[in-house]
Amino acid sequence: MTVISATDLSKRYGDVLALDRVDLTVEAGETFGFLGPNGAGKSTFIDILLGFVAPTDGTLSVFGHDCRDDGVAVRERIGVLPEGYAPFDGLSGRDHVEYAIRSKDVDEDPADVLSRVGLRDDAARSATDYSKGMRQRLALAMALVGEPDLLVLDEPTTGLDPNGAAEMRTILREEADRGATIFFSSHVLEQVEAVCDRVGILQNGRLIATDTIAGLREAI
Ligand code: ADP
Ligand code: ADP
Repeated sequence: MTVISATDLSKRYGDVLALDRVDLTVEAGETFGFLGPNGAGKSTFIDILLGFVAPTDGTLSVFGHDCRDDGVAVRERIGVLPEGYAPFDGLSGRDHVEYAIRSKDVDEDPADVLSRVGLRDDAARSATDYSKGMRQRLALAMALVGEPDLLVLDEPTTGLDPNGAAEMRTILREEADRGATIFFSSHVLEQVEAVCDRVGILQNGRLIATDTIAGLREAI
């Protein structure tokens, strides 16, 4: 089953062509790395996928729904880890996950969700006292609430130390093994290759290659 399907997708901001006729499909269960330097158009693609921004041309659909029309219906099946997530002042890790559980209107145990990202023992601490790696894992925990079929992660390992990035990648592999489709945006190949089966390289809004990691290595 196709989860993400972009056809001739373009987005223009004034003089800037943020996305230039992108064709891309991601199948269910895939871990897909969306790789490109800053300004390549990664966030724009994610903004369209989540229904926040309309494309200038072409279509992007998720689970067979056009993101332009059915953004809300589709978002219920997507867990999003936004770039540079900052926790709320004075709220514990548990509070954050409880908030996500209430917003998504699901019945889950916050302790279980926090266990999946290794934060069970830190549940009661204020999340603003967490290390950067812990904050990212908390943001991931919130994204995991509701067991989404698709996880969209915008630079989930950027700014983490090697240890924190490795912990994050381990959890993402576990989620992939559970069957979630993962869309992992990053500007660092090394961050993506340990998690992803397949990679797309975006440059100046154009998808210049899509291949397996092994295939890319051969091409380089
Ligand atoms: P990335 O996420 O890969 O860093 P972005 O999607 O954020 O790339 O940006 C792609 C290009 O589109 C950049 O040149 C950026 O400045 C431009 N851009 C993104 N959003 C807007 C916007 N709302 N208004 C104007 N230009 C934008
Ligand atoms: P990223 O680091 O992923 O590229 P950005 O910091 O470029 O993200 O963008 C953050 C937000 O600002 C996005 O919603 C993007 O659409 C918007 N944005 C990016 N570039 C511009 C721009 N040149 N003008 C206006 N908004 C922009």
